[in-house]
Amino acid sequence: MGVIVQKFGGTSVGSIERIAQVADKVARFRHDGHQVVVVVSAMSGETNRLLGLAHELQEQPLARELDVLLATGEQVTTALLSMALNQRGVAAKSYTGSQVRILTDDAHTKARIRDIDDSRLQADLAAGFVLVVAGFQGVDEQGNITTLGRGGSDTTAVALAAALKADECQIYTDVDGVYTTDPRVVDDARRLDRITFEEMLEMASMGSKVLQIRAVEFAGKYKVPLRVLHSMKEGPGTLITLEDASVMETPTIAGIAFNRDEAKLTILGVPDMPGVAYRILGPIGDANIEVDVILQNVAEDNSTDLTFTVGRADLPRAQAVLEQVASELNAREVRVDSRIAKVSVVGVGMRSHAGVASTMFRALSEMGINIQMITTSEIKISVIIEEKFMELAVRALHSAFELEQAPAANIAN
Ligand code: ADP
Ligand code: ASP
Ligand code: MG
Repeated sequence: MGVIVQKFGGTSVGSIERIAQVADKVARFRHDGHQVVVVVSAMSGETNRLLGLAHELQEQPLARELDVLLATGEQVTTALLSMALNQRGVAAKSYTGSQVRILTDDAHTKARIRDIDDSRLQADLAAGFVLVVAGFQGVDEQGNITTLGRGGSDTTAVALAAALKADECQIYTDVDGVYTTDPRVVDDARRLDRITFEEMLEMASMGSKVLQIRAVEFAGKYKVPLRVLHSMKEGPGTLITLEDASVMETPTIAGIAFNRDEAKLTILGVPDMPGVAYRILGPIGDANIEVDVILQNVAEDNSTDLTFTVGRADLPRAQAVLEQVASELNAREVRVDSRIAKVSVVGVGMRSHAGVASTMFRALSEMGINIQMITTSEIKISVIIEEKFMELAVRALHSAFELEQAPAANIAN
């Protein structure tokens, strides 16, 4: 009976009744003889409420102060859940990130975990306590409280599981596993029994927020067995696995992800000469703005257009930089569009199956959806389309790839 780490998200601890149900579940695992570390999120809506308070005061509060504020949300839940466990006769202790000493860098609001000191946790586990650790937070070298970015409790859980060499990291949430796409958008989305780390990483980075990207990165890197489960219903959930060609079903497409987090900028009529992409994108990078998809048109009359996407929140800054560049390069015009969405199909099976792109483009064309930009990786194809068509596109692709049907088991040799 080894160590297991169980993470409960915001809705799963959204009320005192829910916290009591979580305590019952944790108590069952403890009674079965497991050593249990529980990671909790803030009660649902709490992180947004705190952010709202800060923004009532100030448009751009200092990130250090935001972290002090936001970290309180998870601290409340740790104490309540510990009380509920103790009330059930299960000895439990709450910990903030800094009490554990989850050491992070100092990038407030998006800090990365550097190291976890597991000595206190190991001692408490050996003494029989259930540990309830606040997700989403850590402490930097200087002792400042940091947070790990939205959805960061997943990452706390996986990082703790890696540090404690846990047998399994269980992510309990409000869905019973990872689906072929967000079940809130497609009614006949199907739960996957397994998905590979690589696929889950692409799904998460393309917008499926069921797991935070960094949690999947960590789990892949440290080979943490990771499972997504429903907090209120029994079931096998979804296991995130290493690719294993001998036993796994290998559907071409594992799932479809989407997001509306990006905006598009186009600079028109720039001279077609060496170094021009650098002169445009260099200053964008210098301003610490991440560029995602890039498209350069074939030159006509010695001039060309360049289009790229950035995070929507960065659009005003990116536009200001681009307008400056445009005047230096004598470009004709700068255009921006934030009503775009990115829809991606993801699957390791793409490596060995031709025709994925054509199936995707046919399905979109049958719906009359114009593709503005395309980008691919070995196991993913993404398109940028008009935002208003996003859900339509996701449904059309889900049925074009027949994701509602379980794939025939494929035992390779
Ligand atoms: P928690 O508060 O437990 O961390 P989240 O809201 O962060 O929960 O993540 C769970 C949600 O992720 C689900 O309610 C679902 O709408 C969404 N989601 C997006 N894509 C998927 C997917 N492919 N499979 C399952 N859930 C998904
Ligand atoms: N409470 C934080 C958020 O809402 C972290 C988490 O829930 O994972 O983003
Ligand atoms: Mg989450």
